[in-house]
Amino acid sequence: MNMKKDTRVFYVDDKAREERIKEASRILKEGGLVAFPTETVYGLGADALNERAVMQIFEAKGRPADNPLIVHVHSKESCLKLVKSVSEKASVLMDSFWPGPLTLVMERKDIVPDVTTGGLDTVAIRMPENRIALELIEYSGVPVAAPSANLSGRPSPTTADHVLHDLSGRIDAIVDGGEVDIGLESTVVDVTSNIPVILRPGKVSKEDLEACIGEVKVGYDDKTHPESETVRSPGMKYTHYSPDSTVILVEGEHGNVLSRMKEILADLKQRGAKAGMLLTEESIPAFPSVISHSLGRKDMPEQAARNLFFGLRRLDEEGMDIIIVDGSFRQDGIGMAVFNRVRKAADMIIKV
Ligand code: AMP
Ligand code: MG
Repeated sequence: MNMKKDTRVFYVDDKAREERIKEASRILKEGGLVAFPTETVYGLGADALNERAVMQIFEAKGRPADNPLIVHVHSKESCLKLVKSVSEKASVLMDSFWPGPLTLVMERKDIVPDVTTGGLDTVAIRMPENRIALELIEYSGVPVAAPSANLSGRPSPTTADHVLHDLSGRIDAIVDGGEVDIGLESTVVDVTSNIPVILRPGKVSKEDLEACIGEVKVGYDDKTHPESETVRSPGMKYTHYSPDSTVILVEGEHGNVLSRMKEILADLKQRGAKAGMLLTEESIPAFPSVISHSLGRKDMPEQAARNLFFGLRRLDEEGMDIIIVDGSFRQDGIGMAVFNRVRKAADMIIKV
């Protein structure tokens, strides 16, 4: 990046709420880059129909140009302007899960530029539930392309501080709406075929989808396969969610995970490596003298979702060489999505 920007921060509190969101929306409308909270993670927004604005997103994040963006809308109607048609199943999913953490991939109309879709003839669209996000999009009057507001490859941001850490000086503004709710990116579903395909897991699970529209296929893989040429969701082939520290995931039943983590820790200590841990509440008492952050209770994976990226960033900043992640929390529902992210972030996965 050759030009350093002066990144403005808009705190949204009750008093100045409307005025500040409106000011941020003007920056978006004029082709600028504005980060904002959604219920999943912070997004980095630009006018999805403005080629130059969207190109700046890729530049600011260091994102590969073939990794398409999710377009955020504030109503079902504004989605209709971007796609050729909405299938019966897509329509049912919108009515059931919008606003919310579900992104739908549909055939795009020509007004959606190539940069936004990475050259694909489909476009990914979502209507977020976060009120600040909805108002920002509505005031701006444009559909807003917004990937997660982190440097490419880093853990997604769940607070405004995370965004500023990665992108200060590279974006025009950020709307600070506090910590996000879910902590993991949306579920992405391709609805262009008769049997829809999940391209990325998220809070809306396969079971949730099937309860509405019947059979749904799984089209993602938890480990990256850069050699594969037929990646359906281009973003899934790149390194993801990684802090600078080396990440070791130990997954399995709680007792087994505990004893393996103790062995690993003893070994690392002997070698003089600085190790931090992301632990379930149940494991914390077993490691009183280690720097650790909580993933929440092992039977409540929604807590792991909220804590994962936050914890990875914290331990990274605390200068750990190695981060050991306790993978003994439940793998169903959103737990499946958390495992997908942590496996991608991991340099080593140990199953016990
Ligand atoms: P991010 O915005 O960082 O949450 O990433 C967006 C995700 O949606 C990436 O994994 C993309 O590959 C995926 N995606 C966006 N648009 C499409 C599309 N048209 N077809 C398939 N996947 C898409
Ligand atoms: Mg991302």
